[in-house]
Order: sequence, then C-alpha cells, then structure tokens
Amino acid sequence: MKKFAIAIHGGAESVKPSELDKEKEEKYREGLAAALKAGYEVLEKGGTALDAVEAAVMSMEENPAFNAGRGSSLTQRGEVEFDSAIMDGKTLRAGAVGAIRYVKHPISLAKVILQKCDHALLVGSGAEEFALRQKLELMDPEYFVTPEKDKAWRDKQQKGLKKKHEMVGSMADTVGAVALDMDGNLAAATSTGGLTDKMKGRVGDSPVIGGGTFANNEVCAVSCTGEGEVIMRGVLAHEVYAMLKYGRESLQAAAEKAVHLHDDLLQGDKGLIAMDTEGNAAFAFNTGFMKRGFWQAEGEPFVALWEDEKENPAAPAKKKKKTAKAKK
Ligand code: ASP
Repeated sequence: MKKFAIAIHGGAESVKPSELDKEKEEKYREGLAAALKAGYEVLEKGGTALDAVEAAVMSMEENPAFNAGRGSSLTQRGEVEFDSAIMDGKTLRAGAVGAIRYVKHPISLAKVILQKCDHALLVGSGAEEFALRQKLELMDPEYFVTPEKDKAWRDKQQKGLKKKHEMVGSMADTVGAVALDMDGNLAAATSTGGLTDKMKGRVGDSPVIGGGTFANNEVCAVSCTGEGEVIMRGVLAHEVYAMLKYGRESLQAAAEKAVHLHDDLLQGDKGLIAMDTEGNAAFAFNTGFMKRGFWQAEGEPFVALWEDEKENPAAPAKKKKKTAKAKK
C-alpha cells in the first residue's frame, strides 16, 4: 500500500478548559473529523495532495465553528476579510489572497491563482474581480457573519472601542492542512478570517508564503496559526523547512523550535502543523490548545484539542488484533 496522510488544524488559541463549553468543544471535534475525512477521501482515491488540502480547508470554511469563510472574525468595522494560501510542493507554485470579501471559499480562489494566474498573491478588489471572472461562488456579506460574532462585535461597540482585543469568544483560529499523496507530493493550505478586531486591510501570515504556509516535496509542508504579525516576522513555516533541510532536526523538534524561535522578540500565540516526505506529522503550539487532526493510510483518524491529549499522531498504524469473534 502506498503511503499517504493528511494533518489539519483549526487554530491555536490561549484558552483554558473552564473557558470552553462542552457544546463548543464537541462542535470543534466534529468539524475536525469532517475536514479530515474530506481530505482523506481525496487521497484514498489517488487524488493529489493539493486537492486534499483544499477539500479539508473547504470543509472548515463552510463550518461556522471555525474562523475561516463562514463564521470568520470581524474587523473593527464589523466586516469579514479573508486571507488564504495554498502551495504545491511538487512545482513550488503557490496562490494566495489577502483582505478579500464575498468569496465563499477563499482557499479555492488561492488554488485558481496557483493554477491560472501569473501572479502568486492578489489582494482586495483585484482578487475579488479575478474570482468573479473565474466564476467562483460569491456570497452576500451576511452569509459569513454568524450571530455569535455579530453579538461579540456589537457588545464591543457598546463598551466602546477603547480596549483592544476584549472581544467575547475567540480572538482567532485559522484553519489549515498539510498532506502527502500516493505519488509522494506534499501540499499545504491555510485560510483565515484573521485576528478579531483587526484593521480593515490588515493581512496576516496565512497568505505569506514561507510565513504561514509553505510546501516543498523534498522536505515538508507546513501551515501556521496564531498571531500573524509575529509568525510572519519569524517566517515560521520556512523555518521548519530550513531546520529540516540544513539543520537535520527531527520533524517534531523542528516544529517546536520554530514555535519557540526568538521567544523574547516574537511574543504571541503561535502554532503549526508540519508533514514530512514519509507522511509523518508534527504539531507544535505555545497556547495549550490547538484544534488538530491527523490521518495516515491504514491508520485511524486522530482528533485533539488540548495539549495533554497525548496520543502520538505520528505513531505507525496499529494492526487490528484478530479477536475470537472475528475468527468465527
Ligand atoms: N494567523 C492568523 C492571522 O494572524 C490568525 C490565527 O491563526 O489565529 O491572521
């Protein structure tokens, strides 16, 4: 059986177990499982890593529990603006968008840019016009704004705009995926509504190639989450690649070192997922909480939220024991 695997994240956040209600936790786990399945099914049928990461991210963009597409965080003006990127480790082609609106699946726009555009990164109205010309699905702005995010924004307006980041609910939670397909190709994808209460026009790390998203068939694929300003200054996705290529670190060590790179100068929430050429996955975050999942060919799907959910996602698939019943 040929190797293939997918790992996903639904964002890293500094949140304590007492701050997250059970219902929300369940929604996260269900959403992660659905996104993993969407990506795994593409790979299982022999599809490309590029299509698999797009499928997993699309699933989370449609799910209002995550901060990407529908359910995204709101800007200071109470609107949504998305950033997204996708990279093909085989060709080193990439497509990315910054501060766009209306596009139902920002990750698909990034992929169309990768495939059909001479440029790698389009922003704002130019990206939206390209989406229109490429006949991507567009939605009314209301589609993206969930009651929870709307209420949080209104509460904030009532309290006044004095304190930065005092929004109710999550500050952010980007979504992302990395995958290895049966042909040995790696890909990475990241999509986000960005930080809550961000300025109009602010672009985070997600669409910055090497910052929040990176893939190269020779080494690894990486997708980041956390405070974009910090992640892009550390160029963290590329840092994982560089440590593996030149530093000969293990995948997990490279992921952790990247998250803690210049901890004194690059302070903030940071998290990432990485996959190597064998389909092993690494998860690293400094928040105690990162929604994440992993599924390797012939293995079982793994979904986790808290740091202490210790099951080793990169462990080889366990062979099912034949029980007395199964022998009958
Ligand atoms: N990295 C995202 C951004 O800064 C937000 C997040 O992952 O939480 O836009």
